[in-house]
Amino acid sequence: MAMRNSSTYEEATEIKPKKEGVMIKRSLNKRFWTVVNYKQRSFVLNEKFLVYYELEDDSSKLLKREEKGRILLETVHTVEIATNFFTKEEIGVSEEVWPFLLGYQVKGRDYLLFLCALRKEDRIDWILAIREACLNNKTIKSEFHPAPWISKNWACCGSTVRYSEGCRKCGDWASIRSLSSLDVSTHSNNTMPGEGTPGTPSSKQKEKIMPRTKVVALYNYKAIETGDLSLEKNQEYDVIDDSQEHWWKVKDTKGNVGFIPSNYVKEKESLGLQQYEWYVNDMSRQRSESTLKHEDKEGCFVVRNSSTKGLYTLSLYTKIPHPHVKHYHIKQNSRGEFFLSEKHCCQSIPDLINYHKHNSGGLASRLKTSPCDRPAPATAGLSHDKWEIDHDDLMLLEELGSGQFGVVRRGKWRGSIDVAVKMMKEGTMSEDDFIEEAKVMTKLQHTNLVQLYGVCSKNRPIFIVTEYMRYGSLLNHLRRHEQSLSSNQGLLLDMCIQVCKGMAYLERHNYIHRDLAARNCLVGTDNIVKVADFGLARYVLDDQYTSSGGSKFPIKWAPPEVLNYTRFSSKSDIWAYGVLMWEVFSCGKMPYGRLKNAEVVERVQKGLILEKPKACYKEVYDVMRKCWAHLPENRPSFKVLKETLVGISQRIVVD
Ligand code: AMP
Repeated sequence: MAMRNSSTYEEATEIKPKKEGVMIKRSLNKRFWTVVNYKQRSFVLNEKFLVYYELEDDSSKLLKREEKGRILLETVHTVEIATNFFTKEEIGVSEEVWPFLLGYQVKGRDYLLFLCALRKEDRIDWILAIREACLNNKTIKSEFHPAPWISKNWACCGSTVRYSEGCRKCGDWASIRSLSSLDVSTHSNNTMPGEGTPGTPSSKQKEKIMPRTKVVALYNYKAIETGDLSLEKNQEYDVIDDSQEHWWKVKDTKGNVGFIPSNYVKEKESLGLQQYEWYVNDMSRQRSESTLKHEDKEGCFVVRNSSTKGLYTLSLYTKIPHPHVKHYHIKQNSRGEFFLSEKHCCQSIPDLINYHKHNSGGLASRLKTSPCDRPAPATAGLSHDKWEIDHDDLMLLEELGSGQFGVVRRGKWRGSIDVAVKMMKEGTMSEDDFIEEAKVMTKLQHTNLVQLYGVCSKNRPIFIVTEYMRYGSLLNHLRRHEQSLSSNQGLLLDMCIQVCKGMAYLERHNYIHRDLAARNCLVGTDNIVKVADFGLARYVLDDQYTSSGGSKFPIKWAPPEVLNYTRFSSKSDIWAYGVLMWEVFSCGKMPYGRLKNAEVVERVQKGLILEKPKACYKEVYDVMRKCWAHLPENRPSFKVLKETLVGISQRIVVD
């Protein structure tokens, strides 16, 4: 809610304002049926208000420019840098813009206004000028969300709690307070007298007063491009600029500055157990078992998050009396001490692990080693702002398989990073459109999505370069391991949950897959499953694939509205996901057996669905049936499915 008043831009700028300029404003989306839009407006900051006006255009030059809204500065509680949650297309610009946000409260209700400065320095100037004008406000907040609330989620952290505190710490306004005292020299010994006046701080001062976070590297990272910085595991770095989601500018202890992948570091304050080799975060019981069995070392162990939120489980491999994995909940007594057996309590989990490294203390074995170094996650692109990959940087190795678009080969980028290279058969896709889209797709990043690193588009055929997944397609993996998998429903369910997590991320970003199936998921080390080829179907030129009457169209994964009107949505992805669950629980069988496409269409139109796979819990089959609701609006979202499946896994698989 922004107040309306009747001043014109001309009147407002008659008295010299504190700051004025053009910015892009995201609509406040007051009602949920209002479409979000982005408009350029003239902004004027004065003593009491931030006011915005229509932009001058040639036809209305003579008219007074109308005020569109104003924010009473005393209601402002947050002024922070925002993440780039939008695409340039969405906001209708061709150059990069610099978002920040303004939180304020009117009549007890919170509002978030997202603004984009057109130049990076301008953003800092606006933030500082508004903060300075609001310094005496009583309710300045300490935490905030750097992206908006979209589809019942905070787009930054995925939290579903609307009125939560926020997932980021706010900058320290107090350091700006001293700026306004005119005594600029106290902020920087290097500042020349006069090189900065209140409200227009010098760049050195800006650097000092911008929020600084200390992060610790979770993995080594080797900088290859100029402008990037290498990371050394466990070393500390200062964050200088975290305005881009995936690549942050940091400074190391020697003063070197450069970009690093943001998923390789963690804020020092919230590092928790992540600094320990033995902590594996969200690894499921099933995956911990296969990882430890694969290591095959007596006393090999990991600590993982238990499926009950907030608790931890120790998974330990022993060969006595036969090779198996034991799982122990780490419990806490009334004094808050941690224990595995009540006789040996410790102040912290690391102390407890240390104790059991020296004494088995009732465990099947003393804790000895942890699995070798966890593989570092994929980065969003191979370097900061890089999505065009140089042909000469790729070494092409063995063929991994071939599909709709042609041959896929394993490769090495600059001799060090494993990649998969899809060599696109000429004429199979609308290349220019895809290359544009690839820029957006490299920014989609999730543990359960195959990372797109970029494209080689300067030569023909074009190459699509992605993360390499060691064990190939999920479909082949299921078929290859049918014997061992069919008796391990926990592992099958875990595979479904992983795919669901990747899809929930796509759903949150309003991204539709259009061809979700087991053949389009890939399997990596530690039984990790990732969704591949999202959104690619849009760029296929082959009629046989794109038209629902075509021989290559994935009819067996398509819901009625796609068969009838080619209407794709996240809900059509849900239908396909139900079929994928069916493929997983039948270990790679072909849905509807040998039925011809036309017969499948007839069955689906009649409301007949796939039968329950033999080895499948009824509760799991009930979830598939929900995915196959005839009307898309009756199907659940991926977010709800994820919660349901995790709940089932807790009930049917002991943690
Ligand atoms: P596609 O063209 O995506 O259907 O891929 C054809 C085959 O290549 C798949 O069935 C996989 O066996 C293999 N493949 C594709 N992408 C990858 C990857 N990123 N990592 C490993 N193998 C892959």
